[in-house]
Amino acid sequence: MVMKKYSLALHGGAGTILKNQMNPDLEEQYKKALNEALKCGMDILDKGGSALHAVEEVVVTLEDCPLFNAGKGSVFTHEGHHEMDAAIMSGTDLNAGAVCLVRRIKNPVRLAKLVMDSSPHVLLAGSGAEAFARSHGMEWIDEKYFYTEQRFKQLQNALEENKISLDHDHSSERKFGTVGAVAFDTQGQLAAATSTGGMTNKRWGRIGDSPIPGAGTYANNESCAVSCTGTGELFMRSVAAFQVHALMKYAGLNLFEACFKVVHEILPSIEGDGGLIAIDNKGEICLDFNTEGMYRAFGNSDGSIGIEIYQR
Ligand code: ASP
Repeated sequence: MVMKKYSLALHGGAGTILKNQMNPDLEEQYKKALNEALKCGMDILDKGGSALHAVEEVVVTLEDCPLFNAGKGSVFTHEGHHEMDAAIMSGTDLNAGAVCLVRRIKNPVRLAKLVMDSSPHVLLAGSGAEAFARSHGMEWIDEKYFYTEQRFKQLQNALEENKISLDHDHSSERKFGTVGAVAFDTQGQLAAATSTGGMTNKRWGRIGDSPIPGAGTYANNESCAVSCTGTGELFMRSVAAFQVHALMKYAGLNLFEACFKVVHEILPSIEGDGGLIAIDNKGEICLDFNTEGMYRAFGNSDGSIGIEIYQR
């Protein structure tokens, strides 16, 4: 019997992540969290589950972990709230669902999936998105759930310095803690999902690339599935995730060449920093970034597994 192929990749954000600045306990916690999320997705794919189901569950696992800037670990806005963005996309029919600026939804990626499955829309925002959630039986959660001391301190620092920062952005330290997953299932289908709290001290309803199909999240069975992390404004202006697809489909580049061009040429040309994870329609995996590190993990049906943080 020929074993059917599948593969999975996930990220927990990119940025100035240096080994000499990391404490061993924290590094262990990150690796454990990445491993748990990877295992959750690999189990689904191994049982023949869909790529769409796998990316949703992987992102839920990461949203529930306070280490990452999504769901439970989301950063604070200028006014001291949490406004979360998420998207999910199926490469099979280009169906997509997304939400932005939600404050009371425990797992924004689940709401994005609900928008995709149960509404004629793609992107719902703020109180409207939350009303939609409630009308479909999804519970609201007390905003206190999202409080973490570390993020609160980051907001105080950002307020003092009067700047809007990406997760962790004081002086030498820049980290984008957004989470995402891409998968290729045994049916040959691709899917992508991304979830984020955005930027510390953000205001005026700022929305990043993560919930915008084509910018921070994209999937198309003809080419690849992509989830991005980094300076959202620059990823939007580069239409980063779609660019990987377009370079493969229209310029004939392979997955690695297309990701390299986006991450090391197109984004830097406008000072965009961060990274992305991508899988093509043969199950090849690419994890690329132009920062010092990216929390990431990957696995496939051949038994290759990796959990990495720093540059190689
Ligand atoms: N891309 C996200 C945003 O701009 C931030 C991140 O990757 O952490 O909202």
